[in-house]
Amino acid sequence: MAYKIIVSQCTGCSACEFECPNAAISMKGDTFIIDPKKCTECEGIFDHAQCDTVCPVPKTCVPA
Ligand code: SF4
Ligand code: SF4
Repeated sequence: MAYKIIVSQCTGCSACEFECPNAAISMKGDTFIIDPKKCTECEGIFDHAQCDTVCPVPKTCVPA
């Protein structure tokens, strides 16, 4: 299981990029994407997906 970024809502603020414990988030064009092979949904590290926690746009980092 992995999270994904709803690209049409992402402002490209980059807040999520450095908060991901698995470096699963990277820039692609003007927005950011999550590598599903690296995303662990923050299991065992945070109570909730850190990208969703820090993202200023509601429901932009969501379970894939
Ligand atoms: S859910 Fe956690 S591991 Fe997955 S992309 Fe978001 S911050 Fe990274
Ligand atoms: S924190 Fe949200 S708006 Fe900012 S780059 Fe990440 S997904 Fe996009």
